[in-house]
Amino acid sequence: MSKVVTILGSTGSIGTQALDVVDMQGYEVLALTANSCVDKMENQIRKYKPKYAALVDEKAAGELKVKVSDTGTKILSGMDGVCECASLSADYVLNSIVGMAGLEPTISVLNAGNKLALANKETLVTGGKIVTELAKEKGIKILPVDSEHSAIFQSLQGCRNFSEVKRLILTASGGPFFGKKKSELADITVEQALNHPNWSMGAKITIDSATMMNKGLELIEAVWLFDMKPDNIDIVVHRQSVVHSLVEYCDNSVIAQLGVPDMRIPIQYALTYPDRIPSPVKQLSLTDYGTLTFDKPDYETFGLINVCRAAINEGGLKPACANAANEEANLAFRQGKIKFTQIEELVRSAVELACQKSDYTLSDIHDACKWASDFVKSKI
Ligand code: NDP
Ligand code: MG
Repeated sequence: MSKVVTILGSTGSIGTQALDVVDMQGYEVLALTANSCVDKMENQIRKYKPKYAALVDEKAAGELKVKVSDTGTKILSGMDGVCECASLSADYVLNSIVGMAGLEPTISVLNAGNKLALANKETLVTGGKIVTELAKEKGIKILPVDSEHSAIFQSLQGCRNFSEVKRLILTASGGPFFGKKKSELADITVEQALNHPNWSMGAKITIDSATMMNKGLELIEAVWLFDMKPDNIDIVVHRQSVVHSLVEYCDNSVIAQLGVPDMRIPIQYALTYPDRIPSPVKQLSLTDYGTLTFDKPDYETFGLINVCRAAINEGGLKPACANAANEEANLAFRQGKIKFTQIEELVRSAVELACQKSDYTLSDIHDACKWASDFVKSKI
């Protein structure tokens, strides 16, 4: 059945793979948004003919408007334009924006009563309480796109009573520096950190995978998505990225979702849920892999996982601060301004020093994120 979809962050890694799914399923595209990528957006507009497109960057939006003036697509600009696209009535809105910039559009999707397919994990890390409460109030199920959370969501499909679930187990690839010790990470280059063994992803999440902050963010994401206590979420390193995550039930039976590492499976499942339809993704051949391995994470070397665990255990504004500090430090590393190991040091200090509030509003979250970003900038 043809569906109408909007893709926020359509020019990125997840966004373009989502458009592959759209191509295969013949869905109609209502709106597309990005930050500043004029050429990619122009190509997408010509191919998908959306009614609306938005770029956050005003100058880029102006350029785009001139370039596509021969099309019927209305060009919007700024974060208001993105939120307007998020609010248009669609069958599904996929949020694949990178970073906490995705929070406001997520809120717009939910306020408009649209179904939300969520790749933007920073939305839940930053504003998990506000977002999940709003989704509940609106009666909207958030459909996870992150592969681990999709795996858990899929492994929960046969579960009639959530109180039967004992533990969630998130798998982690371990990133490019698996097996290395902290002393070996000091002189890591940006190029080395961007060389992920299993997944091809945007630059920010690839660095987060190298520091394993990504798994810390995913732990917090799982807490909010599945209403699970952090202590009941474990992490195992699984180098092959075939077992995408697991659910342990009260009888110690464990159900997992497996597949080749290809994000088009979780993207498609979020857009077709509760149905499954054929996909061009390669079949899984377990005998081609032969061996699947499972290791304990090295929390000494990849300390950011436990920084995130402590932040979500403490709750309040700490997870938002961890995320904001990481976004700033991750960018500074990519720009060559700090060493790889400083990312962890800066995020750890920001979380320790940040002010805390257990009862908070969206405006408190914005203030806390600004404080954490400014803190990291001041140390660079
Ligand atoms: P990319 O960097 O590849 O793409 C990000 C998209 O967001 C682009 O369309 C970009 O536009 C847009 N964007 C960037 N900054 C802003 C902003 N300030 N406001 C609005 N839009 C913005 O990221 P990924 O696709 O890799 O990741 C997207 C999200 O999905 C992240 O939260 C990530 O953690 C999550 N995710 C990604 C996976 C992957 O395989 N890539 C796997 C699991 C989760 P422009 O091109 O103009 O800059
Ligand atoms: Mg993931």
